[in-house]
Amino acid sequence: MKEILLSVKNVSYRYNDAEEDEYALRDVSFEFEKGKLYAIKGRSGSGKTTLLSLISGLERCSEGEIIFDNKSLKDINLDKYRSNDIGIVFQSYNLLPFMSASENIILSMDINGNKDKNKKEQAIKLMEKVGLKSSYANRRVLRLSGGEQQRVAIARSLSYNPKMIIADEPTGNLDKKTETEILEIFKKLAHEEDKCVIIVTHSENVCKMVDKVYDLDKKK
Ligand code: ADP
Ligand code: MG
Repeated sequence: MKEILLSVKNVSYRYNDAEEDEYALRDVSFEFEKGKLYAIKGRSGSGKTTLLSLISGLERCSEGEIIFDNKSLKDINLDKYRSNDIGIVFQSYNLLPFMSASENIILSMDINGNKDKNKKEQAIKLMEKVGLKSSYANRRVLRLSGGEQQRVAIARSLSYNPKMIIADEPTGNLDKKTETEILEIFKKLAHEEDKCVIIVTHSENVCKMVDKVYDLDKKK
């Protein structure tokens, strides 16, 4: 059954310092279902990062609206939305390098208000879910490869079990083989755990692996 989790409806966005007719995004409408993996592609400057900022509630649409779980982002508490409903993965991983893999994940649980006693075990379970051995839990992030760091970042994004995961060029710093492995993780999260996963990319390899591709270049 088709279940829309997020819809972007006729959204336009203009930065404050932009010229009057200079839109970073113009009249974009995309729908995202639960349990599916999406790619958003487009050349540099086509508005991909801007769209993710709007979807993640960091910016508000100039025109149009974004509906999450049948509610407009205009009408909900965006701090709560960001800390409970969406997980974010970045191109440069954005982990704390001097902390261990599990400490990075536990920190995110703490920020989310998780008071459980067994957070380390929860973190290790998440690491195993993304293909990292539990023996990596105590290793400093600095001593992990790029692909391993991105796995930790994905595990961290799952730490509060969000319904949606958004990733801005998550494989931009990785080789093709590692990219494929990371995509397999996202695919599993969508197809086996019913997450809605949205990946911004300009990799054709990524576009081939997802359920649906939206192209921002076709909007300009
Ligand atoms: P992409 O991620 O696809 O490369 P962006 O969303 O970063 O594209 O940028 C889309 C457009 O918005 C570009 O023309 C860019 O110059 C402009 N832009 C991005 N961020 C800002 C900002 N903070 N202030 C003003 N303009 C911005
Ligand atoms: Mg970008």
